[in-house]
Amino acid sequence: MPNTAEKINIVGLSRDELEKLAEGFGLSKFRGKQIWHWVYHRGAKTFDEMTTLAKSIRVGLAETFNISRPKITKRQTSVDKTRKWLLSANDGGYVETVYIPEVDRGALCISSQVGCALSCKFCHTGTQPLVRNLGADDIVGQVLVARDECGEWPSPIGGRLISNIVMMGMGEPLLNYQNVAKAIKIIMDAEGISISKRRITLSTAGYVPNIRRCGDELGVNLAISLHAVRDDLRDEIVPINKKFPIRELLTACREYPSANNARRITFEYVMLKGVNDTETDAKELVKLINGIPAKVNLIPFNPWPGAPFKCSDNSTIERFAQIVNDAGYSSPVRTPRGRDILAACGQLKSASERDRRESIN
Ligand code: SAH
Repeated sequence: MPNTAEKINIVGLSRDELEKLAEGFGLSKFRGKQIWHWVYHRGAKTFDEMTTLAKSIRVGLAETFNISRPKITKRQTSVDKTRKWLLSANDGGYVETVYIPEVDRGALCISSQVGCALSCKFCHTGTQPLVRNLGADDIVGQVLVARDECGEWPSPIGGRLISNIVMMGMGEPLLNYQNVAKAIKIIMDAEGISISKRRITLSTAGYVPNIRRCGDELGVNLAISLHAVRDDLRDEIVPINKKFPIRELLTACREYPSANNARRITFEYVMLKGVNDTETDAKELVKLINGIPAKVNLIPFNPWPGAPFKCSDNSTIERFAQIVNDAGYSSPVRTPRGRDILAACGQLKSASERDRRESIN
């Protein structure tokens, strides 16, 4: 239980909440705006750095509030320069955050939950129980930590190392919608971190009830972890399919508010040898997504200790990609990044034994 004398963390508060908090503290709304700018544009970690505020105000603020990020517990760098941080969250539990650099940009892959409730059979995180939802502070905090580590403050206008955000780390973001939405709104705010909705992609295994909301309220890019084209198989490998079968999922995609040709929905499809990788599967896939502005991202299966699957052969993946491509859909094969440090898709997992006992299930 938080101790009542504990300071209030201002990271993760909405802009409105922060301005109100400043007002409650006897400061003008404008001061609230300045604090926001310091935290999210300049990356300030202490009130003392906020030199546009009088010293006495800074001291007063520091007595009541803090600016707390998740703490880095472990740092790893892959041979391909992918970086992974194991973070201990403000509210307890551990999550992983991954930075995938490209030549002129880079994506930060952030987690939404400690563990995951979905148990997709090919996913390492799925072998870890859900411990808890991350708060907005720990979600946006992952971006702050990565920016600290990349030395990317103040928020650059162009040429950013961290140019894109993918909600593709641990957890199912649409099952922690409130906190994820709050964090994404902070990340998008033009006077702070300022990463636009066009550069943010949220990936879901298909929690259909929140797909529409995500489109209406956030307008970010949508990625769907499809992975199978028949309900019997999808029920087995992506068990949330039993509640929200393929048809319902695809209807939600057809109705996704910001989907058009410029902003296509990405269908992710993990290539599992002998499971979902036949030509018939590929043909069925293009039939299913017919009429949806879409692209298909083929993900070679990334192994993890004890995984019950193998990755499809290259020639099988190529044939699959060709069929999807011939039907008019872009079908890039995702290059695995950070496999040597278990940082690639589906390889994230954090020690959660201790926290599991503390969880409220
Ligand atoms: N829960 C959300 C967010 C996780 S995104 C979702 O399922 O979309 C992580 C992506 O990596 C998902 O598409 C997931 O299905 C995929 N994935 C999981 N395990 C994998 C593995 N071992 N190899 C390749 N991709 C995997």
